[in-house]
Amino acid sequence: MRLRNIKNAKEIINNYDNYINNPEDYKGKWNKVFNNNNPIYIEIGMGKGKFIKENALKNSNINYIGIDRYDAIVAKAIKNMPKIDNLRIIRIDANDIEKVFDNEISLIFLNFSDPWPKDRHEKRRLTDTNFLIKYDNIFKNNNKIILKTDNRNLFEYSIISLSKYGYIINNISLDLHNKVDKDIITTEYEEKFMKNGNLIYKLECEKKNI
Ligand code: SAH
Repeated sequence: MRLRNIKNAKEIINNYDNYINNPEDYKGKWNKVFNNNNPIYIEIGMGKGKFIKENALKNSNINYIGIDRYDAIVAKAIKNMPKIDNLRIIRIDANDIEKVFDNEISLIFLNFSDPWPKDRHEKRRLTDTNFLIKYDNIFKNNNKIILKTDNRNLFEYSIISLSKYGYIINNISLDLHNKVDKDIITTEYEEKFMKNGNLIYKLECEKKNI
């Protein structure tokens, strides 16, 4: 996502009640933040936040945490965000995910993650093994990841990386919007790519830990 400094990003962020400024303090205790024991789903790289917001509004019995790494992007997301009880927003780099969560996440969404096409940037892809190792420590029981992208190379790479690491692919779509499914919650990028006529790929995968 293009990074533009927006005016008063810090101010917008800090004025939003459901922004958590010191997420490390809640490691292992996010259920206390939400004040219930409902499952916690996170989106790493939420961008402007449409997807996580609509999910939270639709499923009040699930807790959601939207994550992005830049103040300017988080501020943009928050600008469109009502205060929703089952939604929190944090700004961290996915590299630090283990500092913030400990065996408490039920599902990770990766939507239109940066593809990092060059081989030498492989380690930056959010489905690279070095991230999968970190995710192991944040999941509660079984690991569950749902990924959407229009980037065929990232999709192929992710299938291989996840499979090698022990994930079972439960569901796959090579043209998500070809199906008559009115329940699909789209992201900003997804809307843009669909308008361009790009195919949208999706996979759901799981790794059992017991
Ligand atoms: N999910 C949104 C945005 C996709 S763009 C959508 O589909 O519309 C990818 C987003 O991931 C960007 O906002 C970028 O800032 C964020 N991102 C990329 N690498 C990240 C990382 N290592 N940690 C946290 N966020 C990251």
